[in-house]
Amino acid sequence: MANSMASIQQGRIRVLKQASGPSIDREKLKGPVVYWMFRDQRLRDNWALIHAVDQANKANVPVAIAFNLFDSFLGAKARHLGFMLRGLQKLHQNLQGMSLNIPFFLFQGEALDTIPNFLKECGASLLVTDFSPLREVKNWKETITERLEDSVSVHEVDAHNVVPIWVASDKLEYSAKTIRGKINKLLPEYLIDFPTLGPSKRKWPNLHHFIDWDKLIADVVRKGAEVPEIAWCEPGEDAAMEVLMGSKNGFLTARLKNYSMDRNNPLKPKALSGLSPYLHFGQIAAQRCALEARKVRTLSPQGVDTFLEELIVRRELADNFCFYQPHYDSLQGAWEWARKTLMDHASDKREHTYTMQQLEKAQTADPLWNASQLEMVHYGKMHGFMRMYWAKKILEWTSGPTEALAIAITLNDKYEIDGRDPNGYVGCMWSICGVHDQGWRERPVFGKIRYMNYAGCKRKFDVDGYIAYVKRLAGESKKRKAEI
Ligand SMILES: Cc1cc2nc3c(=O)[nH]c(=O)nc-3n(C[C@H](O)[C@H](O)[C@H](O)COP(=O)(O)OP(=O)(O)OC[C@H]3O[C@@H](n4cnc5c(N)ncnc54)[C@H](O)[C@@H]3O)c2cc1C
Repeated sequence: MANSMASIQQGRIRVLKQASGPSIDREKLKGPVVYWMFRDQRLRDNWALIHAVDQANKANVPVAIAFNLFDSFLGAKARHLGFMLRGLQKLHQNLQGMSLNIPFFLFQGEALDTIPNFLKECGASLLVTDFSPLREVKNWKETITERLEDSVSVHEVDAHNVVPIWVASDKLEYSAKTIRGKINKLLPEYLIDFPTLGPSKRKWPNLHHFIDWDKLIADVVRKGAEVPEIAWCEPGEDAAMEVLMGSKNGFLTARLKNYSMDRNNPLKPKALSGLSPYLHFGQIAAQRCALEARKVRTLSPQGVDTFLEELIVRRELADNFCFYQPHYDSLQGAWEWARKTLMDHASDKREHTYTMQQLEKAQTADPLWNASQLEMVHYGKMHGFMRMYWAKKILEWTSGPTEALAIAITLNDKYEIDGRDPNGYVGCMWSICGVHDQGWRERPVFGKIRYMNYAGCKRKFDVDGYIAYVKRLAGESKKRKAEI
């Protein structure tokens, strides 16, 4: 295999299945290559697509992109599915205009059936997939791999992380401190420019397929209307690049200097990059963001260094946790010290307790917490600093860590545009279960888990200003909803 994978680093690829038969046959693909696109929904800077085209061209066979739209996926609503499908619609349009000779097939239903059926139908020899550490995706891949004929190989490509997750570390890392050095050491090898995606040499027999995007989008928006779409964040690869480095208000072109100073001020959300929706749906590569950020480091060395720490180290640490810890979203996944301290304090008396419904409706006695909840519900992206306070208060106000974690993850995934992401599971686990953190002075309810309170926020930023800001956001969102 080594030679045939020359243009993408071998470390990026895991061979999940090797076709059987004499080695001479295994090396030479007879049928087409299919790229099952899942997490990395882009044409630009996509190592999985680059690998698929590369393999197809070496064997002189055609290549296609397949995407499966699940009937339901971890409770995704109009907000998430609308953003995703609108992004894919643009991808499809771009693909048709690019003369790459690569068709895009969209299937609906269970990938466990649609993907193997499609491979069988077109006589494919190689399935390429991108990488996600989430258990549902891992399980599908295992079953799909089992269902494929012996003559089909399966390659998984980590197109999401700068340093492939299995290369960065072969074990569950304890904290940012333990993974940082490992990642930084590998950056010269992996943080490199992308090759230009060339066309497939062999054309797929019928390249153009009509997909009724408008109907698909209308359907998901109607079915998932409980959490409506957001208007402020335009989906798609081009919009993502605009947010990163556009001439109008790009993060690296216009906003970078504020990042190191203001990124923890919830009243200044524009100081953050705003890239998480695009990174989550794979509409932009973290590697592209990192390459471009490095180019402008002289403008704001501290801003770029802090951004790269979040974008690479923290994000890849989250993927590491979900990849190596099967209980990444439950108390069982916490370190021993944290589980013990949380259980020691599980029956401590709480000043307030709220139900999931009260929390969801922002009906607590804390106006700051209510504002953060409403920012998430109406705007679809809670400020990063408030996410920590928000999750920690849920621990304080519910019956114990198990319930707190379940509520935090449910609400996060339901309303955040970037939800259902390893960063979200790890963010909740960090806030409530001390994952990747250390023990602090012991106190009621929290035990040794890091504590945050209203007074601390008041010292850091204009709490009343934030509450008024969210009130305006919520008002605008309700008005828009009424108009629709
Ligand atoms: C309780 C809680 C829940 C969270 N839920 C999510 C979620 O569902 N999805 C999500 O993407 N992030 C989540 N985060 C992490 C972080 O808050 C968001 O990534 C960030 O606020 C996104 O905004 P941005 O892209 O403008 O941030 P920026 O500060 O501009 O960061 C750039 C990128 O770096 C990465 N990043 C930043 N902070 C973190 C972090 N703490 N951990 C891992 N990666 C990070 C993200 O990919 C982010 O898009 C959560 C954090 C907490 C504490």
